[in-house]
Amino acid sequence: MTGDLEDLYQEVILDHGRRPRNFRRIDNATAVAEGLNPLCGDHYTVYLRLNGGRIEELAFDGSGCAISKASASLMTSALKGKTVAEAEEIFRRFQSMVVEGNLEAAGELGKLAVLKGVCAFPTRVKCASLIWHALHSALVHGAAPVTTE
Ligand code: ZN
Repeated sequence: MTGDLEDLYQEVILDHGRRPRNFRRIDNATAVAEGLNPLCGDHYTVYLRLNGGRIEELAFDGSGCAISKASASLMTSALKGKTVAEAEEIFRRFQSMVVEGNLEAAGELGKLAVLKGVCAFPTRVKCASLIWHALHSALVHGAAPVTTE
């Protein structure tokens, strides 16, 4: 990889960290899960609305470092409209990329591949993976719709 490409990736991460996409709560979510990374202080809630096995809405809120926020922003952008099975497959590839440095997996991840550099920094892997684990938990365990009633 050239230095220019690394700069570009860095720029995408900074941009998503500063101006995260889908940064809001979803009031009629069908599943909600919280993710906490005490090592870094990252703390997010992921909201999703499933409709017929497809992720119709996906958003998050909370606070944390640029890597964790960029990962959440990129994840919510990438998975909206996907089926649960597709989302789980992308999660598997993402884990393979950031934990094992699997570049083949990175090649299939589109924009999410900007985070492949974190595999060299084990503490940052936790930051990048946090929101994905929260999503996985929401998909597997679900939650009652959020209501004030
Ligand atoms: Zn972090």
